[in-house]
Amino acid sequence: MLKHIFTSLLFILFLTSCSKPEPQLFNDSFFTFGTNITISIYTDDEKLAQTGFKTIRDEFRTLNNQLHPWNPSELHSLNAAISKSQPHQLSPLLHLMITEGQRFHKLSSGLFDPAVGSLVKLWKFDQAANIHTSIPKDSDIKQILSKRPSISEITIDQNMAVSSNDLVRLDFGGFAKGYATDKAIEMLQNLGINNAIVNAGGDLSAIGSKNNFPWKIGIRNPFYNGAIAAISTNERTNIFTSGNYERYFEKDGTRFHHIIDPNTGYPSVEIASATVIHDSGILADAAATALMVAGLNNWKQTAKSMDITKIMLISSDKRIYITPQMDKLVTILDTGLTKVVEDIHQ
Ligand code: ADP
Ligand code: MG
Repeated sequence: MLKHIFTSLLFILFLTSCSKPEPQLFNDSFFTFGTNITISIYTDDEKLAQTGFKTIRDEFRTLNNQLHPWNPSELHSLNAAISKSQPHQLSPLLHLMITEGQRFHKLSSGLFDPAVGSLVKLWKFDQAANIHTSIPKDSDIKQILSKRPSISEITIDQNMAVSSNDLVRLDFGGFAKGYATDKAIEMLQNLGINNAIVNAGGDLSAIGSKNNFPWKIGIRNPFYNGAIAAISTNERTNIFTSGNYERYFEKDGTRFHHIIDPNTGYPSVEIASATVIHDSGILADAAATALMVAGLNNWKQTAKSMDITKIMLISSDKRIYITPQMDKLVTILDTGLTKVVEDIHQ
């Protein structure tokens, strides 16, 4: 009898050790960088997924505390020092963001310029969405433009940054999410997580797949709350979209949004959204912002100099301009728009 019980117990133990949990999708959401972050991890190890979520939450909170442009943060202190023409010591993160910002500024011939903070503030895009109701005085815009603040005016010597222009106010909103998602993917991979999506309000980086099926990702329609295109991916893919629908107000039928043309001091026109896919999330993010400003006349030139080929632009007059490299990857869902396939070298 005893022997029988012992054998049964052994059998049950054997069964338990054999029944590995099935892989499944774990999700986590939180709010930072002024947007909803959703992380999806496909794994059979729930504990590992939870570790991944906590690692990213902690990292994003730290980044937000360092890079917040108008709440107390390290960036805020740097901007305050610049306004008093004082030098300021940089952390490695701020050092990297400034040098990367200067690189993208140069590559985009100044269309991407994280020194637009004074203009962003004048337009009140540094505040809650519901108070953006007035166009600033043209004379105030001209006054800022007369000093043409630019990130190229910052020099760094032994980790001390100084600006030759006291109107420079750095705002990394145009590429911080790209930096953050690159970092998040690196951290997940270091933990041994190879199937995941880090989605920062529609800007996202994906790795691997879900149950050997590709991740299916929607790209937002700038004209209403739905998808305009879909993409399936089972390898590292960074998809970044800038649009005129994130922070905006409308006056007399014209939309004024949060991406500012540093040459005019006004929000960019012509393009309602710009989507870029690139191996580097930070570059894709900066390039999507730059293409919004470049407009229909300059987007190919900007794409060439920023070395991006996978691009989809949706113009305010409802055309989709798409490169052949991007056209291969996406399925257009809204057939009410005219699609124009254009090579950047044409
Ligand atoms: P989102 O953050 O809505 O996805 P973007 O990546 O295009 O969109 O970033 C927009 C943010 O970039 C603005 O809120 C502002 O902080 C900053 N910005 C605005 N104009 C420029 C510009 N010309 N160059 C660089 N950054 C900009
Ligand atoms: Mg961007």
